[in-house]
Amino acid sequence: MKKGKKLYEGKAKIIYATNDKNLVIQYFKDDATAFNNQKKTTIEGKGVLNNRISEHILSNLSQIGIKNHLIKRLNMREQVIKLVEIIPIEFIVRNVATGSITQRLGIEDGTILKEPLIEYCLKNDKLGDPLISEEHILTFDWATKKEIDKVKKLILRINDFMIGMFRGVGIKLIDFKLEFGRIKIDGKNEIILADEISPDTCRLWDSITDKKLDKDRFRKDLGDLIPAYTEVAKRLGILHEQSNVSAVNVTKLSSIKRRKK
Ligand code: 5GP
Repeated sequence: MKKGKKLYEGKAKIIYATNDKNLVIQYFKDDATAFNNQKKTTIEGKGVLNNRISEHILSNLSQIGIKNHLIKRLNMREQVIKLVEIIPIEFIVRNVATGSITQRLGIEDGTILKEPLIEYCLKNDKLGDPLISEEHILTFDWATKKEIDKVKKLILRINDFMIGMFRGVGIKLIDFKLEFGRIKIDGKNEIILADEISPDTCRLWDSITDKKLDKDRFRKDLGDLIPAYTEVAKRLGILHEQSNVSAVNVTKLSSIKRRKK
């Protein structure tokens, strides 16, 4: 497979064309941003860990029949994915109230929700990804009723699966963000899971201590983001228990791989 020109650069990932018009390469950057790009830095090794963790979760979801864009991981920072038309909505799934919902609605931090709550945000950096309702989605044709109903069903299955997967390794799945894309498969229009699922897009708390093992370590200046993401990878069995993945080691691994190419 030949890597072609850059098609799109987002805050944490870059999409490159390939010689197959249906496939693209997704490159995971080390850039971290928060609060609508007002806070920015580079955290060496973050992209490598997100690439591995997202590959693991999406492959597992594939095995339970949740169609998604992942074809295969290529190397430390890249994966081949199906080209989809991204639905311009961030689907937020909450099991426990924290983050923006506590500020917006005055809900006490850590409140366990009696059912998973799905929220919709318009994917628009200039507007700061505003919260929208299903009626907005239908009024402005961002997605059809059929698509939203399908996505809601998928979200609940994904949430159930991920809660169980993380619970098994001593982690609480607090909330997360998903993106979906439109694609034609065998001439039929389908909606599949896209983007990434990683500690950048989920809130993950240690089951016993409530220690944050996700991007809130950056958002809230808690430090030790790489050790936290490494801990998630180790618990999921992606990295060997004994491997000492410091930022320096991850960077070294990346550059060794780059030199080999
Ligand atoms: P909140 O609305 O509380 O800020 O975020 C809810 C969940 O969605 C968190 O797990 C957060 O990581 C994820 N999320 C919401 N918006 C974004 C986004 O623009 N980028 C990323 N990476 N995650 C997001």
